[in-house]
Amino acid sequence: MYSTTGLAEWAAVLDVHFNAAPNEGDEGLALRGFYVNRKEGTLKRPLIYVNTAHHPLAVSSTFLHEVGHHMSSEILGGDEHTPVHFFIDGDYASHLEQPAELAADVMVSIAGYPEPIARKIFATAWEWGLVARAKDLTEAALSEVRRHLKKVYGFDLTEQIPAAQMLHYLSGMIHFAKLRWALLAEYDI
Ligand SMILES: [Zn+2]
Repeated sequence: MYSTTGLAEWAAVLDVHFNAAPNEGDEGLALRGFYVNRKEGTLKRPLIYVNTAHHPLAVSSTFLHEVGHHMSSEILGGDEHTPVHFFIDGDYASHLEQPAELAADVMVSIAGYPEPIARKIFATAWEWGLVARAKDLTEAALSEVRRHLKKVYGFDLTEQIPAAQMLHYLSGMIHFAKLRWALLAEYDI
């Protein structure tokens, strides 16, 4: 988890414009951040914006997600049809259908659960090809996820997050955990 200053330093290393500012209120909070690639025309460098009205762990996750867009845009190319990627809070279902969004989420997932931790948390036996049919994290795995987030990031969903946002944050926790689980099961990473 990085402070805003730490994220700014990281953005400077990546040579992207960085904008971090709070966007409050229900509608404001809905926007977690966005990435604008340099092909937009007006920018010499890509731009990452993160909404700092969110919990610091969410802000760092948003940043990583946008860095994921940056990596795919700069390294893989092919991003010219979508110059701006908005990250809407809790809108993870749509990410599953958009390869660019899913790739960006992979960045968050792997950063949040390094391999040894992923192997410990997602120890449930999986067989190849189960991913498409996997619906739920087990209760035990979800408890481990909560314990991990508390221990490493000091993050506690029920104690720190306002009720109105809790469902979105829970969606995010489940989404990134399941994605990490899928990466482990399918690619052994
Ligand atoms: Zn995105």
